[in-house]
Amino acid sequence: MIFDPAAECMPEAERAALQAERLRATVAAAHASVPYYRTRLDAAGVRPAAFAGLAELGRLPFTTKADLREHYPFGLLAVPREQLARVHASSGTRGRPTIAPYTRADLDLWSEMCARSLALGGGAPGDVVHVAYGYGLFTGGLGLHYGAERLGCTVIPASAGQSQRQITLLRDLGAVGLACTPSYALHLAEVAAGSVRLRYGIHGAEPWTDAMRARIEAAFGGDAIDIYGLSEIIGPGVACECREAKDGLHIQEDAFLAEVVDPATGAPLPEGEVGELVLTTLRKEAMPLLRYRTGDLCSLTRGTCRCGRTTARMSRIKGRVDDMLIVRGVNVFPSEIEAVVLESPHLAPHYQVVLSQEAALDRMELQVEWAPATQPPLDDTAARAELAHRLFERLGLHSDVTIHASGALPRSEGKAVRVLDRRRPS
Ligand SMILES: [Zn+2]
Repeated sequence: MIFDPAAECMPEAERAALQAERLRATVAAAHASVPYYRTRLDAAGVRPAAFAGLAELGRLPFTTKADLREHYPFGLLAVPREQLARVHASSGTRGRPTIAPYTRADLDLWSEMCARSLALGGGAPGDVVHVAYGYGLFTGGLGLHYGAERLGCTVIPASAGQSQRQITLLRDLGAVGLACTPSYALHLAEVAAGSVRLRYGIHGAEPWTDAMRARIEAAFGGDAIDIYGLSEIIGPGVACECREAKDGLHIQEDAFLAEVVDPATGAPLPEGEVGELVLTTLRKEAMPLLRYRTGDLCSLTRGTCRCGRTTARMSRIKGRVDDMLIVRGVNVFPSEIEAVVLESPHLAPHYQVVLSQEAALDRMELQVEWAPATQPPLDDTAARAELAHRLFERLGLHSDVTIHASGALPRSEGKAVRVLDRRRPS
């Protein structure tokens, strides 16, 4: 089912008009109530009364995670603190936490977005939905909880942990839907050992792959659906795959304006090109954000989907901007190099990318090692050429390759150091 056909199947021109109107209102509210935005908008010469909407989107300043940290905790509020109904917060692994403040209307909007997401994944009123995301400051648990209630489901607020009890409840209460991270779904699948059948699973908050989807679907027999969101914007429910196509995540465009930009220059990229996802909130009251740089890399597709929805779709997240390398003008993600290395059964899953400069040109060298069980050939020229060829096909970039003996590359106890950038800073 489609939760809100009027919003989700709206003709493109009508939606653009609605977005333009809401964008103008958001810019006006930010200018009137958030001193930080007033300064930035004034500096950019944007006068809310004369702002033309979508056509002038590029004139609006970007907002970054650093801006949120700088104005922690309540510096970017557009409403008095007393009007907040709830505050969530992200873990803040790199310093201060990032807070996610909501008015009552924001909570209402969030529930609606999560209800739409569950329906996208195959949910319907009357379903028993088991929510095994963590409850608390993290947005996953309460977000999907209220979304499922809004859809008209029977919600089991299981939260994370105690997996054996989760399996008992899933079975005994007859859940047809499961909401949790993909890695926890895989863990539950192991514990369930085939004893739980589901119609759908809504999985997000971690990057995951189609290979993982296949494993989750095989374990539970239903559709495994990718959901996307971030607490700065609203939490889960910004976008979600439909069960019919599973080909990109439908963005809730009446509430979130999406752009994809070149991470280096900030210039908008055409449809289909991978870049950084930038989101502007169109219906948030507590903390409206203009052109927020998510740091997530994806591409956008427009046009009507097989499911009947007309909203733009974002590809699965390809990685984080922080991880991206620019080599000879080409964007390279370590995850793509890793995929090439892992394709070869003769190589160990350890590698290092060394970047250097020769006569002002970038040089990339991939260092890998033989898998322990492999008998390395005396002359590895052919193996190196083959790996270089596959890298070129994948990245469009020439790389030198060195294959070491098994165990030669450094191992790390924490996060592996995959990239050594020895280029001079430009
Ligand atoms: Zn669809």
